[in-house]
Amino acid sequence: MAATNVPLSTQSRVLGCLVGLAVGDTIGIPVEFMPPGSFPPVTGMTGGGRYNLSPGQWTDDTSMCLCLAESLIECNWFNPVDQLKRYQRWYQDGHLSSTGECFDIGKTVRTALNKFTGSEEFPGSVGPRAAGNGCLMRLGPVPCAFKNCHSLALRYSADSARTTHGPPAATDTCIYFAGLLLGCFEGKSKEELLADKYSPIPDYWLNNTMVPELAEVVGGSYKRKSPPDIKGSGYIIDSLEAVLWAFYHTDNFKDGCLKAVNLGDDADTVGAIFGQLGGAYYGIESIPSEWKECVSFLKLIELFSEEINNLEPKEQSGLVPFSELSEKYRNVKINFYDVLERRTHETLYRFSQPCPKQYTDLSQFDEEVERIKSEVQGALSADEDNLFILKDFESLWSSYRSKLQGRLSRKKI
Ligand SMILES: [Mg+2]
Repeated sequence: MAATNVPLSTQSRVLGCLVGLAVGDTIGIPVEFMPPGSFPPVTGMTGGGRYNLSPGQWTDDTSMCLCLAESLIECNWFNPVDQLKRYQRWYQDGHLSSTGECFDIGKTVRTALNKFTGSEEFPGSVGPRAAGNGCLMRLGPVPCAFKNCHSLALRYSADSARTTHGPPAATDTCIYFAGLLLGCFEGKSKEELLADKYSPIPDYWLNNTMVPELAEVVGGSYKRKSPPDIKGSGYIIDSLEAVLWAFYHTDNFKDGCLKAVNLGDDADTVGAIFGQLGGAYYGIESIPSEWKECVSFLKLIELFSEEINNLEPKEQSGLVPFSELSEKYRNVKINFYDVLERRTHETLYRFSQPCPKQYTDLSQFDEEVERIKSEVQGALSADEDNLFILKDFESLWSSYRSKLQGRLSRKKI
């Protein structure tokens, strides 16, 4: 175990945390749901798994993290209703999915999103069965955004859990884990971070209760146990214990990440949780470049991480006008829906693909196109090059509309 942390910029740690999340999610994919010991150990980024993904494609963990990051950036504050709307858009329309559709969703998240009617802040169940790891897998953006105010970071980490997962085991684990990430951002050593009940706020856990099962883990259970007592299960406290075990017994991102995902079971999520901690502790430079460069939409994930790192959150209601967001963000975001820089047909095809699961009739598709068009128009000046981009955009959307029309009519027959 490395005795001291090496000096790194906060930016390296924030990028490491969020890119690390996507990397861990992606590395764990092939052995998700597989019993430990039933597969040859994972050694790299291969894709595959239950959803037959390509190498680099990520799952619900990263999609929800990006929805949360996008909300924090576009609201410039913690707004649970806005977060839930984005999660719902991912669930229903594949927003910020690596494949363009929501192909996996945990039961607790699904129940909360089905219950959400558009205005309540915390529809997540508070029953003990809702203590799944779905709130921990996406948590990173919250401590990253509020890293300069620890009390808000911890409070909003609990609230971020409560949108979908309300029991104390879930909220306490998110508060504890956010504290570890904040400690990493400040360059704390592994010994300090792994001391009993670490918090960046001194005496936090003396003044606040912690569920006993979590107290047992953060008191060092993982230092004494080994698999099969360490499990990569979907229960949030098991997942945290597995990640702390992998972090404690290795001294670099790669080994820790592989140790975590090779527990099998909920491997992509345990990988995503390790990725946040390992990336924040060892920095973005420590993530193997062959993994990082393979991650789908890396540029978008890096941009969201940079924006989150530079955020100076201000309490306000509603969204920051699109024109007031940073130019780089606007450009890459627009680019994400295609258009500005790359304008590749491949990218546009993925996001406008007439998938019947996303669009059940043409009016839904047209509404989406209008919304994106007005975002694009609002951010472009009227010079000739930009008019060309808009024209290109119109013609591509129109060709996808025809394909969708064809597919929907075949579906009716
Ligand atoms: Mg997943």
